[in-house]
Amino acid sequence: MAKIQMKTPLVEMDGDEMTRIIWQGIKDKLLTPFIDLKCEYYALGLPNRDATDDQVTVDAANAIKKYGVGVKCATITPNAQRVEEYKLKEMWKSPNGTIRAILDGTVFRAPVIVKGITPSVSTWKKPITIARHAYGDIYKNSELYVDGAAKAELLVTYADGRQDKKLIHDFRSAGVVMGMHNTDASISSFARSCFNYALSVKQDLWFSTKDTISKIYDHRFKDLFAEIYENEFKDQFEAAGIEFFYTLIDDAVARVIRSEGGFIWACKNYDGDVMSDMVATAFGSLAMMTSVLVSPDGLYEYEAAHGTVTRHYYKHLKGEATSTNSVATIFAWSGALRKRAELDGLEDLAAFADRLEKATVQTIEEGVMTGDLMNLSTLPEKHKVGTMEFLDEVAKRLS
Ligand code: NAP
Ligand code: MG
Repeated sequence: MAKIQMKTPLVEMDGDEMTRIIWQGIKDKLLTPFIDLKCEYYALGLPNRDATDDQVTVDAANAIKKYGVGVKCATITPNAQRVEEYKLKEMWKSPNGTIRAILDGTVFRAPVIVKGITPSVSTWKKPITIARHAYGDIYKNSELYVDGAAKAELLVTYADGRQDKKLIHDFRSAGVVMGMHNTDASISSFARSCFNYALSVKQDLWFSTKDTISKIYDHRFKDLFAEIYENEFKDQFEAAGIEFFYTLIDDAVARVIRSEGGFIWACKNYDGDVMSDMVATAFGSLAMMTSVLVSPDGLYEYEAAHGTVTRHYYKHLKGEATSTNSVATIFAWSGALRKRAELDGLEDLAAFADRLEKATVQTIEEGVMTGDLMNLSTLPEKHKVGTMEFLDEVAKRLS
């Protein structure tokens, strides 16, 4: 059988530890037998980041800017212990942080749903994707402990010397005070990323804040989303048959729990942090959670939501058998290939991405799974397989 051909290269970012081993396994067993893979390869594993003074991470992000789509393996974010372990020149920054700073995007996380692993919320039938704004609010705050009677004020001094002042609180005794911010530019980028992503997956977009209480701050989010929607996306949404709607966060929570799933929920930074953990846990497992970074100008970077699974890697190094779940990493590849196919008009490549996902889900639904899923799955007959054995089982169903 002739292999599927690609047009534009996919930006491939290799990584570390157990996921690096899975990465190679996926390429060898699930991709290269079927596709003439055209990738521009960047070794983002920690040793090469160190050797290149982290230039390789910057180069990879710029390559995504050039080609439009990337796929990334999990990577180590070094801490003091890793500096020691890998004899690093420096404690390099998180590659995801570096890439996000260059592409300026929003991260969308969605679970892979399989029969036998039922969400804790019985009505959920389809994945719920959380889009978390990843800039500002309490994550970039300034806060103070007020240790006695004091007047706390909010003061803004403009470049031209003008000032705006507001009383926060007249403290009679000790307490706490906090200032935080966001920018129109960042909120607008977030909105555009969400609208673009909703169009690309053809799902409704929900957005929620607490604008009834925060009449200026949260209201600014609501207004910018509404304005950008009206001016830039409304026609495209209508043509795609999808909906954008805004609702109060309390109402959104209630609706999400009663829903069937199958939509994108855009959240402010803190809401997204909390709600994505809630949604991920309710759907089952971090190993089944995919993640995609979408930039406001429509660049895509796919990856798994989990890390490099260090504990399993150390077992692997000792020659012990491992049973590490590769589903999220497989779906990172299928997502990236499908996007590449869409941009280049390659129907056979898009069909392959669908087949790869189907074969993966089918494997688990037929009771063949890695150790982490054994306790979660309610299938009556199931058996545990090793890391590479799982990939072989998927390959069998793929061909
Ligand atoms: P982790 O790699 O996500 O693993 C934490 C634990 O979750 C594992 O020990 C394992 O539990 C379970 N797990 C996660 N993914 C799994 C999978 N695919 N299959 C089976 N079990 C899975 O998080 P971590 O141990 O905190 O971080 C390890 C390294 O990853 C760190 O150096 C961190 O910097 C990096 N990291 C990278 C990214 C990224 O690149 N996006 C994200 C997060 C963390 P058991 O041990 O109980 O089996
Ligand atoms: Mg969190």
